[in-house]
Amino acid sequence: MKMCDICGKNEATLKVRQMDKEGRATELNVCAECARQRGLSGVEEIKSDSGAVLAELRSKIEKQDKEIVCVRCGMSFAEFKRAGRLGCAECYRAFHQQLQPILRRLHGAVQHVGRTVQQGRKRAQERLEVQRLRVELEKAIKAEDYERAAALRDRLKKAGDETGT
Ligand SMILES: [Zn+2]
Ligand SMILES: [Zn+2]
Repeated sequence: MKMCDICGKNEATLKVRQMDKEGRATELNVCAECARQRGLSGVEEIKSDSGAVLAELRSKIEKQDKEIVCVRCGMSFAEFKRAGRLGCAECYRAFHQQLQPILRRLHGAVQHVGRTVQQGRKRAQERLEVQRLRVELEKAIKAEDYERAAALRDRLKKAGDETGT
């Protein structure tokens, strides 16, 4: 439990980001009362209450939660509620509708999704690179520049192109 950085008396429930004179962002943990008095709006709820969110989830496992199952890892939404963790990146899609209202309160889950988005972007970049190298390779072959073609083939192999050309 974190105490409010302003009054030091109440439990902090919000994180507030403020800029100092040099433009550096500082984070304050504040209670709801101080936030209201000073007109501060929190950037996020404090992580520590994810424990409370999870406890709430665990206490509300419903029959139909067992029927919502991730096709990739086989985890059901009921199991997610019990464990408080997603089984794999695909779970997010499987439980999307159910997760929506609680995602904002569960930072762990949000971070998990963030990582997979980045991985997807990286893979897309790699695919683009392979395409580009293939075009270059064709050009090199047409120009009968075999030295360049060999070098390009090596790079294609490294870029993960299984088929070769
Ligand atoms: Zn306070
Ligand atoms: Zn899964």
